Amino acid sequence: MSALPPGSTIGILGGGQLGRMLAMAAARLGLRCHIYSDHSGPAFDVAAASTLGAYDDLDTVRRFAETVDVVTYEFENVPCATAEAAAQVKPVRPGVKALEVAQDRLVEKTFISGLAIPVAPFAKVDCDASLNQAAGALGLPAILKTRRLGYDGKGQVRITSTADLACARAAIANAPAILEGMVGFEIEVSVLVVRGLSGEMRFYDIPHNTHANGILDTSTVPAPITHETRERAFALAGTIAAALDYVGVLAVEMFACGEAASAPLIVNEIAPRVHNSGHWTIDACAVNQFENHIRAVAGWPLGPAERHSNAVMTNLIGADVDAWEQLAAEPASGLHLYGKNDPRPGRKMGHITRISPKTGD
Ligand code: AMP
Repeated sequence: MSALPPGSTIGILGGGQLGRMLAMAAARLGLRCHIYSDHSGPAFDVAAASTLGAYDDLDTVRRFAETVDVVTYEFENVPCATAEAAAQVKPVRPGVKALEVAQDRLVEKTFISGLAIPVAPFAKVDCDASLNQAAGALGLPAILKTRRLGYDGKGQVRITSTADLACARAAIANAPAILEGMVGFEIEVSVLVVRGLSGEMRFYDIPHNTHANGILDTSTVPAPITHETRERAFALAGTIAAALDYVGVLAVEMFACGEAASAPLIVNEIAPRVHNSGHWTIDACAVNQFENHIRAVAGWPLGPAERHSNAVMTNLIGADVDAWEQLAAEPASGLHLYGKNDPRPGRKMGHITRISPKTGD
């Protein structure tokens, strides 16, 4: 298929801040976005069109798909049936396969380890007996994670001793789960890879990610990793993107354990979408992750992913956003507010990226 010409419309399933920044990037290229979501959100303010509809209302989803030229998504819990319904009408990029893999930690870890890529040791847990067996096999401490719908540290519980086993499943509402062995990592990093329709791939430089209360706090580029680790991380992410026949931006979160470790990099999870740890690219790259996602799904040539600056992206969570005026006055920083009214604790309200002259590769 040839590239969608300017004036074409990209349908986005999901209406949050990622959809908002996708729509803003699309506008720069003369492309329009039509948002589909079950509630009004930050993307509605900046899109050419929007549809409020339930994700399981497949007739409305198909009607939405009729009005656009290609469909993408901005959150990984889009029901597969929704994406499949849209795919009956228009191309959906990335495809349904990426959703199937990313929505279930057991499927995800099995898929990634099947590519000979290191993941944390894991075992399926669906009853007390399988938890006890998994704990015996993997050893403690370990982390019990729900297979589905876990995010920002939710849906998981750390098990440090056998005494914790009895109540661990109750803490995740007895949901189907996996037990994961603890990884002794140095830092957490992520790879943002964009893969075009032709299979061409470009990689953004790797951020070092820190978390606070289970939510991404900062992404700093460049990460303190060796050249070898960086190239290795790109190769792993590229292998996953190719195996999914992926189109768009894929985020691959990894634990960096040091080049001396038996596995220097361990993949934790993938996100089949633009990602919070790539927000720095708006201020530090000529073509940011949002625009490259749009270019990929619209069949355009990919843009350069090189960074021109160092960057520290800090999320503005809850009341952090109250300092907006002070933050807006800072030199050498880009302030991004998502237009959300209610700064509840834990809610991502915006981010700020502080840039400085480029060092490193
Ligand atoms: P996740 O929801 O899988 O991203 O996990 C949330 C956070 O818990 C990660 O960012 C890590 O800091 C930590 N974590 C998750 N899995 C492991 C593991 N197997 N070993 C050590 N730390 C982990």
